[in-house]
Amino acid sequence: MMQIKPWVRALAMYEPGRPIEDVARDYGFGPDEPIVKLASNENALGPSKRALRAIRDAAATVHLYPDGGSFRLREALAKKLDVRPSQIAMGHGSNELLALLGHAFLEPGTNIVMADGAFVVYRLVADLYQAATLAVPMKAFTHDLDAMLAAITPATRLVFIANPNNPTGTMVDGPAIARFMERVPAHVAVAIDEAYVEILPPDRQPDTLRYAREGRSVFVLRTFSKTYGLAGLRVGYAVSSEEGVGVLERVRQPFNVNSIAQAAALAALDDDAHVVRTRRMVGSGLAQMQRAFRAHGLDFVPSVANFILVKVGRGREVFERLQRRRVIVRAMDGYGLPDYIRVTIGTKTENEFFLEQLRLVLAERTQP
Ligand SMILES: *Cc1c(COP(=O)(O)O)cnc(C)c1O
Repeated sequence: MMQIKPWVRALAMYEPGRPIEDVARDYGFGPDEPIVKLASNENALGPSKRALRAIRDAAATVHLYPDGGSFRLREALAKKLDVRPSQIAMGHGSNELLALLGHAFLEPGTNIVMADGAFVVYRLVADLYQAATLAVPMKAFTHDLDAMLAAITPATRLVFIANPNNPTGTMVDGPAIARFMERVPAHVAVAIDEAYVEILPPDRQPDTLRYAREGRSVFVLRTFSKTYGLAGLRVGYAVSSEEGVGVLERVRQPFNVNSIAQAAALAALDDDAHVVRTRRMVGSGLAQMQRAFRAHGLDFVPSVANFILVKVGRGREVFERLQRRRVIVRAMDGYGLPDYIRVTIGTKTENEFFLEQLRLVLAERTQP
């Protein structure tokens, strides 16, 4: 018998959005029956054309190890974000950086503070390092930063703020974060997870990088998976103090970001037009969804991100029925929201298809 550590055996696993191929296999959908995936907050416009070109070019040299220091990408990010390259740590998606924070900060007897309706990975990382999770109730589906401050104990090592938050699509503004940062005790590191920040119009993006510039104990986490449309390549980064980056550099694997991912991210960073197009698509898609939800008398949580929570009643059942109708969304029972589903904003056509299938599912359910 393998002697697996009992607490490892007990770890919960992340439930990802279902891949299109899985659903096609399960339900026997053929190539002429396309499936619409609105389950993982990916960019419905796809990657930038410049990134695609960079990927093709980089393919010729995959026999060589990547630059383990992601030199060019960090230089470009530093320039764009007005920080030093030594203030940026790259990760295999921001998910890896979350785990690296756990690796560096957490152990039995410590805890993390998070909002109870925030991204579930924070809790999974705490479990992985046998730290406790102090989950603070949200207010109107939004982080309650005052209550989170009050929850901090001497054993708290990390506070996680997802902004905008997944799965609620809500955000706290710059002044609220500033008040939090003024009062947070010095022994705590603050991880601000900004996976969706580029979807916001620039004037609504809270200036959190200033805390990194000021040398505060902060890790601003960003990703190329969402707005930049590179989820399949796994690239994320953390902006912190040089000390903070040094910690992540020590615990990461030497080649955690592959060469194709580095090249694609570098090219995507240059394509502002693609980001603007994405923002526009998400804006009109959100309006389209919210209009339809109102027309159907469905409650929803107004969102600033590229997804939306809608209250459909018995969410897991609706999720399964939609899947049978070739639409993949997310059930939310894992977040304590059994009556909700989370839907990613797709293209206009994808949103229309989803809304029509949802209408049919809700109609078939109300029949005797
Ligand atoms: C999608 C998401 C991430 C992870 O993104 P990757 O960079 O693909 O690992 C992190 N945080 C939140 C809140 C997310 O929704």
